[in-house]
Order: sequence, then structure tokens, then C-alpha cells
Amino acid sequence: MTNLRIGQGMDVHRTDPSRRLVLGGVQIESDFGLLGHSDADVLCHAITDALLGSLALGDIGTHFPDTDPAYKGADSTVLLKNAYALVKAKGYGIVNLDSTIVTEKPKLKPHIPKIQARLAELLELDIDCVSVKAKTAEKLGDVGEGRAMEAYCTVLVAKDGTLRR
Ligand code: MG
Repeated sequence: MTNLRIGQGMDVHRTDPSRRLVLGGVQIESDFGLLGHSDADVLCHAITDALLGSLALGDIGTHFPDTDPAYKGADSTVLLKNAYALVKAKGYGIVNLDSTIVTEKPKLKPHIPKIQARLAELLELDIDCVSVKAKTAEKLGDVGEGRAMEAYCTVLVAKDGTLRR
């Protein structure tokens, strides 16, 4: 295995006015949240899948099945940390990650620094190694019409001690 590996992840959740909105482990003020078995943190799920993908460790559904009552209402930051523990157990650490949330609303820009800080804390990274971007879908499709929210993530991991500060 080489010292560098790359992973990508994506996730989508339906919106639901009866749910709270949690993104990257941060509760966001919003008139809707996301439907899901867990807390439906679409950003954490995309990052979790990117981490698992980086070392071909399967996907979030394999490790944390939504049919398992243990994950009902689960805090997705725990799933994220568990996935990172699997990566670390293979001797790898995150170099950086880059993520994008796609939604029409709420406006996420004011919340980005807090989400970055929370993810940096969870993954033991410097904040400048954690990129979180937000964009709209230009009112197109399910996301654009407010029925869903998507997140994407790419992560680079390296063998311990290489390319890490
Ligand atoms: Mg999900």
C-alpha cells in the first residue's frame, strides 16, 4: 500500500419540518431538519463514507446499518469518530478534507466556521485542514426545490507521520 490514499463520500437526506438540522455535529437554526434513522447529519455521513472509502473499508451502511436499533437517533459524530478509528487502526491519519453541502436554505455561510471548528475537534485536525463549503442547487431538482439536502466530501489520508504537521 502506498503512503497516500484518497476517499470520496456523498450523502443525501430528505428534508422534514418536524426534525432538527444538524450539520457536522452542529445544530443549525432552521425551519426544517433532515429525515433519517440517526440524527441525519448529512455532512458527517459524507465524511464518514469518504474516510471508509479511503482505505476501501466499505461504507457507512455496512458499518452502521440503519436497520440496527442501536443507531436510532444516533449522534453521527460518534459514527464519524468510529470510522476514523478504523482508519487510524490501519496506521493512517487525515491530511485534509474538503466538503460541500448543497441546499437552498438555510444560508449556511454564517455557520461554516463553527462547523469547521467542530469537525477539526472531532478529527483532531488543524482548522485549515478542514474545508466546508456550501452552495445552492440553483432551485433545480429535489435539492433546489427544498425536498432534500446533499453533502460531498473528499479526504486525503497518509500513513502516520507522513505529510502531517
Ligand atoms: Mg445519511
